[in-house]
Amino acid sequence: MVTGWVQGAEIVADDLSAGAARRLSDVAVYRRAVAAVLAELAAQGRAPSVATAERVLDRRLREAEFAMVLSATPSGPEAAIQRILRDVRSYRRRSPNSAGDLAAMVRITLLTQIDVLWWGHLRPYRSDADVLAAPELLDLDVLRSDGKVAFNYRRQATTLLGRAVRTAERAAVPGHAPATAGLRFALARAELIVVLNQIAVDFARLAPPGTPRLWVTSLVRSVAYQRQLRGLGYAALLPSAHCVGYAADLEMSWFRQFDADHVLRAVLIAHQRDGDVNVIDEGQAWHVCVRPGAGRALRLIPRQR
Ligand SMILES: [Zn+2]
Repeated sequence: MVTGWVQGAEIVADDLSAGAARRLSDVAVYRRAVAAVLAELAAQGRAPSVATAERVLDRRLREAEFAMVLSATPSGPEAAIQRILRDVRSYRRRSPNSAGDLAAMVRITLLTQIDVLWWGHLRPYRSDADVLAAPELLDLDVLRSDGKVAFNYRRQATTLLGRAVRTAERAAVPGHAPATAGLRFALARAELIVVLNQIAVDFARLAPPGTPRLWVTSLVRSVAYQRQLRGLGYAALLPSAHCVGYAADLEMSWFRQFDADHVLRAVLIAHQRDGDVNVIDEGQAWHVCVRPGAGRALRLIPRQR
């Protein structure tokens, strides 16, 4: 399906932050430590309480496996621990939270610290105007019309008419598109587009025939928008790699009807194993954050026929 390779946008000089320099093996050790914490919580028998989770985290996060990563985050290990505990405390069970239960929230906030390790030193886009003015973000609509985007996405329906059309469409052809709001901004960093294209090409190759292309449900967000989402009860954490343009959310549940969700999971885990990305299972969608340096070696975007 990839018919050639074209030059992507020029990319800024490599950045040598403490987080970017942290070895992938340290990140792998950290991930195993996260799994161990989740196992400890699960061993409590029933759904753990916030107090139990806080007690377990307060002890475990000071251990070496966690310290290796948390100590390299921009504001230091103590701030990271406080951030994690705050996220856990703010968990509300009956909200339309993307974290299905408290254990999921613990997993999401712990794994989010890998994104913070990699990108927490960058200044986030504070407002939507900052996002629109960012010269490093590429316009996906332009790239798509040139055949350089290997995945599906659509923008938010912002008008009443647009929303009415979407509702009618869903009624007429259920399963035609994932039930999400669409992108607020169809903008992304070149490195993220390169990696998403690679994931999309792998998924297209391995998924059953007739499976639609990889579907991206969220890309860049301003801090203001992230706060708005948090106010609505979503597990929209801060700092977030979405707010510096290095993260995307990929539709997962919708691909079950094509018997392709397990394929997408395997593709994402393989890319994580290769060190390109940090992946977080958030239920309906999976969060993907690109690692510093990933996507740059190629500086290319696959061209689709
Ligand atoms: Zn995300």
